[in-house]
Amino acid sequence: MNTVGHLINGEQRSDANRTQDVYNPSTGEVIKQVALASKVTTEEAIAAAQAAYPSWRDTPPAKRARIMFKFKDLLEQNADKICTMIGEEHGKISHDAKGELTRGIDNIEYACYAPELLKGEHSKNVGPSIDSWSEFQPLGVVAGITPFNFPAMVPLWMYPMAIVCGNTFVLKPSERDPTSTLYIAQLLEEAGLPAGVMNVVNGDKEAVDTLLNDERVMAVSFVGSTPIAEYIYSTASANGKRCQALGGAKNHAIIMPDADMDNAVASLTGAAFGSSGERCMALSVAVCVGDVAADTFIAKMSESMKSLKVGAHCDASNDFGPVITKQHMDKVIGYINSSQEQGAAIVVDGRNPTVGEGYENGFYIGGTLIDHVKPGMTCYEEEIFGPVLLVVRAESMSDAMQMINDHEYGNGTCIFTRDGEAARYFSDNILVGMVGINVPLPVPVSYHSFGGWKRSLFGDLHAYGPDAVRFYTKRKTITQRWPSAGIREGAQFSFPSN
Ligand code: NAD
Repeated sequence: MNTVGHLINGEQRSDANRTQDVYNPSTGEVIKQVALASKVTTEEAIAAAQAAYPSWRDTPPAKRARIMFKFKDLLEQNADKICTMIGEEHGKISHDAKGELTRGIDNIEYACYAPELLKGEHSKNVGPSIDSWSEFQPLGVVAGITPFNFPAMVPLWMYPMAIVCGNTFVLKPSERDPTSTLYIAQLLEEAGLPAGVMNVVNGDKEAVDTLLNDERVMAVSFVGSTPIAEYIYSTASANGKRCQALGGAKNHAIIMPDADMDNAVASLTGAAFGSSGERCMALSVAVCVGDVAADTFIAKMSESMKSLKVGAHCDASNDFGPVITKQHMDKVIGYINSSQEQGAAIVVDGRNPTVGEGYENGFYIGGTLIDHVKPGMTCYEEEIFGPVLLVVRAESMSDAMQMINDHEYGNGTCIFTRDGEAARYFSDNILVGMVGINVPLPVPVSYHSFGGWKRSLFGDLHAYGPDAVRFYTKRKTITQRWPSAGIREGAQFSFPSN
């Protein structure tokens, strides 16, 4: 059986002392093993990145960007192969994998602007014969730690920009679907990146803790669940590293009584159940304002869900695939069971879906719709990360907004309405980082930045876009004087001002 290894200093390596099973969630079978890097192996990756840093830092940004152009071409040429790799280990359907890869490539396109993005700021004559400028220098070795649900896109949020800014990188991808992530990093080498600039170590807590505690690692970008994000942020910060740690979510959509209900239902069907709800921007709670809106929404949504098709990743006619592991499937079913025990009403039950022949052992849950959910219920408070849409009934828009603002997560949200004033009030006052107005998945494009509020993000700067340029560089401000011949000032004891 194949073992997925590491990429260290341009070489594929395996560190097979410890391994873990990798499943095909569509069939439930173990299809390969992934090597779990030891502390020593992870330190070798850090050492390779550190050795590659001085000459990469001094490589002109335009030359670095040219490698990214080539990398983008290679990803496009190999897109089908990559999407198959994603589908086999993650379970998402090919059209969804293609969407993820395209959004990842968007980030490479933005990174190709490096020479423009790194231009810095210049002021002439800040004092007599004095000019001043700020430049943005790379940090050194930086690390990325990524989740299973976007094995191509989320790593691409990080390392193209980090590398184009002059840093070298060590990536620790999810151990649950490692193949596409490793393959994509190999394409970057093929695009001409010098050995050691980009390294991948597969692994678990041992590799992560090594990255967090090694003083050669200057910054850490993390995306994953909130408890781990909090651990990463506190450990990395205590060790003096710059850190951004993006966590979990519970994204609410408000359905106003004046909403275009057909549009809201169509939008929510995709946003709640696409990718089996395993997206940090999945809309998992519909807050209907008033019972009329709620009853209409439930009737239309139940009707829409009759045509939902869950099944294997390799059948493009399926709407969504399995969840990632049996353990996760049991956890999602546990949330559905708890909602019933705590007084909510299951309207559409996906606990025993029908799937095609040969896929009976896969990790499937059908689309599930639950009405009369209330704050305080376990299914409402916690992130489910499955194809489950909760409906909460609110008496007014302000009650609905209060509910969202009181929730511990603040990643994404959306309002469906025809009222511009209500929409503007909502976007001004809601305590959430990414807001949609009649747009169910308001994932910012690559030239904006991505990040939630509250316990959905620890740190200041958001992922990708302009914030990433700032995250992966440090500002240096230089003030310079070339006094004209003959003009000489004596010692000045007052604080310099002009
Ligand atoms: P996870 O937190 O279990 O794992 C993320 C990474 O952390 C993996 O690389 C994993 O190996 C590592 N890790 C896990 N446990 C660890 C530990 N105890 N110590 C050190 N490292 C550890 O997350 P996941 O299940 O892979 O991904 C799903 C989660 O990610 C969801 O909560 C989802 O909302 C979140 N997510 C958030 C965003 C965002 O942008 N906010 C995007 C994608 C996913």
